This record gives sequence, C-alpha cells and structure tokens, in this order.
Amino acid sequence: MSVAWLSAVCANDIDTVGGKAASLGELTSHGLPIPDGFAVTAPAYRRFITETEIAEELFDAVDVDVEDSRALAEAEQRARTLILDAPWPEDIRADVLAAFDDLGSESVVAVRSSATAEDLPDASFAGQQDTYLNVTREDVLDRIKRCWASLFTQRAIYYRDEQGFEHSEVDIAVVVQKMVHAEKSGVLFTSHPSTGAAEMTVEAAWGLGEAVVSGAVSPDHYTYDRDADAVDDVTVSTKKVMHVRDTETGETTETAVPEAKQDQRVLTDGELHDLNDVGDLVESHYGQPQDVEWAISEGDIYLLQSRPITTIDEESEARDDGSHATGTVDGQDDGVLVDGLGASPGTTAGTVRVVGSLDQLDKVNQGDIIVTEMTTPDMVPAMKRAGALVTDEGGMTSHAAIVSRELGLPAVVGCETATATLTDDQLVSIDGDRGVVTDGQQAPASDTDGQQSAAASSAPAAKPMTATDIKVNVSIPEAAERAASTGADGVGLLRMEHMVLSTNETPAHYVANHGEAAFVSTLTDGMRTVAEAFYPRPVRIRTLDAPTDEFRQLEGGTDEPVEHNPMLGYRGIRRSLDEPETFRLQLRAFRKLYEMGYDNVELLFPLVVDGDDVRQARAQMEAVGIDPDQRDWGVMVETPASALCAEELCDAGVDFVSFGTNDLTQYTLAVDRNNGAVADRYDALHPAVVRLIRETIATCRERGVATSICGQAASKPAMIRELVEAGITSVSVNVDAVHDAQQEAKRVEQHLILDAVRE
Ligand code: PEP
Ligand code: MG
Repeated sequence: MSVAWLSAVCANDIDTVGGKAASLGELTSHGLPIPDGFAVTAPAYRRFITETEIAEELFDAVDVDVEDSRALAEAEQRARTLILDAPWPEDIRADVLAAFDDLGSESVVAVRSSATAEDLPDASFAGQQDTYLNVTREDVLDRIKRCWASLFTQRAIYYRDEQGFEHSEVDIAVVVQKMVHAEKSGVLFTSHPSTGAAEMTVEAAWGLGEAVVSGAVSPDHYTYDRDADAVDDVTVSTKKVMHVRDTETGETTETAVPEAKQDQRVLTDGELHDLNDVGDLVESHYGQPQDVEWAISEGDIYLLQSRPITTIDEESEARDDGSHATGTVDGQDDGVLVDGLGASPGTTAGTVRVVGSLDQLDKVNQGDIIVTEMTTPDMVPAMKRAGALVTDEGGMTSHAAIVSRELGLPAVVGCETATATLTDDQLVSIDGDRGVVTDGQQAPASDTDGQQSAAASSAPAAKPMTATDIKVNVSIPEAAERAASTGADGVGLLRMEHMVLSTNETPAHYVANHGEAAFVSTLTDGMRTVAEAFYPRPVRIRTLDAPTDEFRQLEGGTDEPVEHNPMLGYRGIRRSLDEPETFRLQLRAFRKLYEMGYDNVELLFPLVVDGDDVRQARAQMEAVGIDPDQRDWGVMVETPASALCAEELCDAGVDFVSFGTNDLTQYTLAVDRNNGAVADRYDALHPAVVRLIRETIATCRERGVATSICGQAASKPAMIRELVEAGITSVSVNVDAVHDAQQEAKRVEQHLILDAVRE
C-alpha cells in the first residue's frame, strides 16, 4: 500500500504513516475539520530504496565519522543525489498521482515529512525533515523525494549517530495535504495555559498562520469563557502585515494589510463560538488542554496542528516537591560561617574542598562544595560534579554566578573570606538564595550533582502565552539542555567567548597550535550543542567580545595588548574588524551551522557604535559566504552611541537589536561594572539608561526591526515592566529567571490590555 488516506488512518498507524499523519488521521476520524489529504507510506519509501537498489549504497554513504564535517556534508549530498536520481517504481508513482487527482488535479498541497521514529526522546527530531508549501501536481513527486532525502541531512545523520539509532532502521512517510488558503488564522489554547481554567485564549490575524506563529504580526487577542459559553475579552491589535500565497510564484509572501483592515477585529463572536466547539472536541479527544493551530477559509474552520500544553499547576507541584526534597535552612542564622551574595538559588550540604589552583580540581568529588577565590572556565567540569560553589570574589554577573545559575548549582559569591575561613573536609550547608554558608548539615546533601537535581526541580516547562517572547541566556553549551527545558522561546544570547575561554588559549594561540579548521570546529561544536537543544527555537549567538584582561589569563595571553582601561578598549566588533582573519573564522563557524541545516541560528555583533561598524560587519558576513538577506542577524545596543544611532543601525539592514544593559549602564553612567568602589552608583534602571532604551525601541518599531534585552537587568521585574510597556519584542533572562519573567510579562501585558479597554 503506497498511499493511505488520512480519513482511513488512526493513532495506531505510526509505523506505516508516521506520527504526523497518524495524528491527523486520528483527528479526522473523530470529526475534526482537518484539510483533506493522504500519506505516502513508509513501506512505499522502503520499496523505493529497495526496488531501485540504492539502499545499500545509501546507508554506506551516510556511515561516516560525524565529527568530520566535510565527510558529513558529502554524506548528505550523496544521499540526496541517490534519492533524487533514482526512478520512481511505476506503480507507486501512479498511486500518488491518482490520489492527487482525487484531491483535485488543480489542487495546491502542502508536502510534509512524517517520521516514523516518533518514539525518539527528542521531539525536535521529527521536525528535522522538510516541509514544502504550495506544491502543485507538477512538483509533487519531486517534493516527496526531497522529504525522503531530508532523512539524511547533516543534522539528522549527526543526531541519529549521537543517539545510537541505525540509519537503516528509520523510515519516513510523507503527508500530502490540501493547502488552506486562509483568510484568517492563528493559534488557540483550549484552556487557560497557566491555571487550566475553562477559558479558551485565541490569537488571530489576517492571512496564513505563519505570521502569527513566527511573531511577524501582533495578533488580536480573545478570551472565551467556556462555562458561560460567551466571549469574555477582546483586544484588537494593529495588524500591519499578513502572509498570503503569491498566485504567480506559488510562494508564501509577506504583504501589508490594507489600511482599513489593520485595526479591524479579525474574529466575530460566532467564529469564536465555533472555534470553542472545535477546541472542546480536541481537548476531550486527547483528555488534556491543547495548543491548536487553526485557519478559516471561506467560512470553514480548519485545524492544522494540535499539541498538548502543560499546566502551571503541575509545575508548582513539581517545584514544591523540589524544595522539600532539598530542605531549607530558612530562619536558621545560627552558625553562619561566611556570607555573600546569593548568586544561584538552592540549598544543600556537603564537604568543603578549597581549590587554590587548577591542579587541585581533582579532589572535588560528586556533591562536594567548591570553595575558591574566583572561578575560571576550566573549573566548569568540576562545577558540574559539585554540590555547591562558594567564592571570595565576584558579583551577580561574574563567571561563577552565571555558570552556577546555568548549571543549577547553588552558589554564594563575593564572600571575601571564604577561602580563609572554611577548611578542607569541613561539613557545611549552603543557602544560595540568602547567600549564607552555615556550619554542619542543615539541609540534606545532594545525592547527585547539583546540576541534575536542580534540572529536575525546574521541570516540566510550562509557558504562559505572552506576546513578548521570553528567551534565556546560555553561556556554556553544557547548560543547553537544562535551559531548553525551561520552555523559553529561544536563546537571546550565547556568548562565543565562553567557548574560547574554556580552551584556555587565546584565539591566536589556538590557531597557531591547532590550525584554523580546529578553531572553527571548536566553535561549531559548542554552538551546535545549543542550536540542537533548542531547535527549531531561535538561538542568537554573539561573535567574540572578551576584554583583553580576560584573554590575558589564557595561554598566549602575554601577547595581548596591555590596556589602561580594557572596558573602553580592544573588544567586541572593533577588535573583530581590526583582526579580520580571526573574525572570518568565527563567521565560518556560523556558515558551517547554516550548511548543516541549523536555520534557527541568528548572528549577533557586540559593542557596535554606529552604522559604519554594522556595514563593515555585514560585509565580512558576505565575504565568508553568508547572505545577510537570508539570515536573521542583529547587533547589541550597549553603547549610548549605538542607541543614538538606532536609525542608522536599522538602515544598515539589521533584523534585530539587543540591549546589553551591563555595558549600556556602565557607559551611560560612567560607572565601571567591575569596580566595587562605585557599585552603589550602578543602576540599570537609571532614567538615562531607560530613556536610551525606550527611544531605541520606538525607532526600531517604526522600521519593523525587532528589539530585545539580554543584559542582567532583564531579570528585574521593573525592567520587564518598562520594556514590555515600551513594546519590546523579546526579553532574555538567566535560566533561573525564565519562569518569573514569563509571569511578569504576562501580568504587564494583561494590564496593558485592561488599560486599553478602560480608555
Ligand atoms: C551586556 O553588556 O549587557 C551584555 C549582555 O554583554 P556582556 O555582559 O557579555 O558584556
Ligand atoms: Mg556587553
């Protein structure tokens, strides 16, 4: 059987038609309005590779060392050529075309991969294969083959190898489904996403749904009281753009919404009522609240996709369990040995290991408490084993604090006298919330390492629906999985310098010793770990920005220039532009990821001052073969000059700007961010800083450029309030602050909606 109609398949048919087709079939058979379509079955793919006798050659071609990027790229190419060049078995070809004609030979369809390996642990795997929209009869056979070939992209080969799956055992089916030429579309949550209350939330905009899903448009927002069966709340947004099918090219394009419709309400009360009926059916079918993509065409509702949503209630229960499990030392100030800043939350007890130099890291065992002056990137492996961290130096944005938060390791930093006061083998308790270290065991010791226990307590991820994207900052690739499990909308900042610092060599030293290719691979590997963990959520990666004093501590550091004030010196884009060879190696790492299919990677340039910096950086992208018009890229706004030149930055073609308030504050207020003597004057919410940010947001909004904040201040509720009000597109916070930021953004957005309604 080469073809199976969706109306004839059900959830049990995954092996034959893949996960996507099986779930669409299941919904169709329960009376839900799914666009008509059929699946080209997995056995059809199997027969194709067997009867054309390409199977053996195909699996040989992809059996390569996945760490060898060239071999990986060749494997993808070879597999694709084999599949695209092999002739169709005549009967399969005839079956597919006959089924297409049953849909209507003039139909336009979506062709989507439907992997049969749905039981793989990482759901993103299923999304790795291709999708083609607006396909006509003429192209359908080619697109089906391309879906088959997408089983062998570099990402897919690499991923299967890492997970230990045999290439020869994974099958693929393809869904061919009539396109819905939606006049209006959007997403809905069948129940309240936070409380699980019987309230449907709907976002709607004109045209095809991609505009809402991708965030290109601010949709209308509706709530529907399911108990009262009545519309509860309506907020109409100005919808400037819509996605439509270009009738000439068949492509989906973005166009302006006619002025008269921009402020017009998208959904009538009747349509909301009907959507609620559909939502009811889906929710009762699955027995849990669903996140549904829908479309309306010629008055009919269609359901395009449905996924379960996790409710906040479950999450709070999980959190409560977590805090009971780790115990608490609240209210027990007796026996405080040292105190400092609570830099990473959590409580635990363990044995002290004072680490004076790197060669002492070996003495740190599972669950021990590392006590040190200050951490360096080489300590990360030991930190992953440890139960907690205590340092003499450092503030909330120090390496120790950032990495501990990402690893979920309780940490107290800046204790000044910890290495002098605490001694090896001493049993102590750590409270990373209050910033105290007490004598003896006042909290249970972590039975595994801190990273794992904290990761468990932060799951499952539940995400309130916010118009503002809430993303997460990631500093070390090791923390990617944990960061991804927060349910954040992507990574707002991944600093490339952390990957370089962890090699313990300056870039120049590394390249001299190991060669350019090895340097590029080191960067690609770290970046890929994060891009993979979040795929398809966007991951914004920043090119190098380490001040010379940080590089000086590495091997090769003696060659670094000696600067009177490194913060105002040779760092960020200015250094990259002055050293184009190293800059191009960084950019080559991006190009490699794009070639591997990581289209979720976005490029970010640090410490730009004006449009000239941006134009030069853009030229370097082009020089290594990255097309700036095809990729999402942007710049940090962390100097007052760049904020004041926002118009110029937009004109240079950026897709987004991201506020680096750590630097923007120090440069606006003339307060060195690392100088304790002026720390009391460091205020990221100073009116001057906020004004620069607000004005930049306004300029960018007028020009359709997205705005984001990724400095430490993004984790402050007051900053979130300011910026959500100002219309910022996304906020990126530390991993431990994602949940609170989601709640705060939601609260502010609801206030804005209420204010608008009351006016
Ligand atoms: C910032 O300046 O706010 C920022 C995020 O960059 P960094 O902390 O790496 O300078
Ligand atoms: Mg900065």
